[in-house]
Amino acid sequence: MFRGRAVETLTAGLPRRHWEQFTTCPYEDLRDPERVHVDAYGHVHLCQGLSMGNMWQTPLSRLVREYDPDSHPIVGPLLRGGPASLIREYHIPHEEEYVDACHCCYSLRLALLGRFPQFLAPRQVYGLAADVGT
Ligand code: SF4
Repeated sequence: MFRGRAVETLTAGLPRRHWEQFTTCPYEDLRDPERVHVDAYGHVHLCQGLSMGNMWQTPLSRLVREYDPDSHPIVGPLLRGGPASLIREYHIPHEEEYVDACHCCYSLRLALLGRFPQFLAPRQVYGLAADVGT
């Protein structure tokens, strides 16, 4: 799978498929996650750089209890139709083809970072400089 800040380098020259084919998240159970990752800044990751919230701001128990995947601005579209739904719902400028669903998803999330900074964090995952405090 291709996700994270090295994705553009790692995908260079590999075969690609049209974005409309990426209609599911193939690796994470975003509706009912059985595990999350917590980073040093308190972000609770459903997938790398895809945050449920920040446990320094909201207790982890409350984040888990109140997690509503359908209303999460990134998870909701992913559940409705994979990375292709992020393109359709947010009208994101995009490439025609990607190597896999995660390459597509990561690239789109990078484009949405300024819009949903609390859910796409930390910025370092996306190869960007950290905000103060993150
Ligand atoms: S990068 Fe996107 S498509 Fe890939 S596992 Fe994570 S949430 Fe799913």
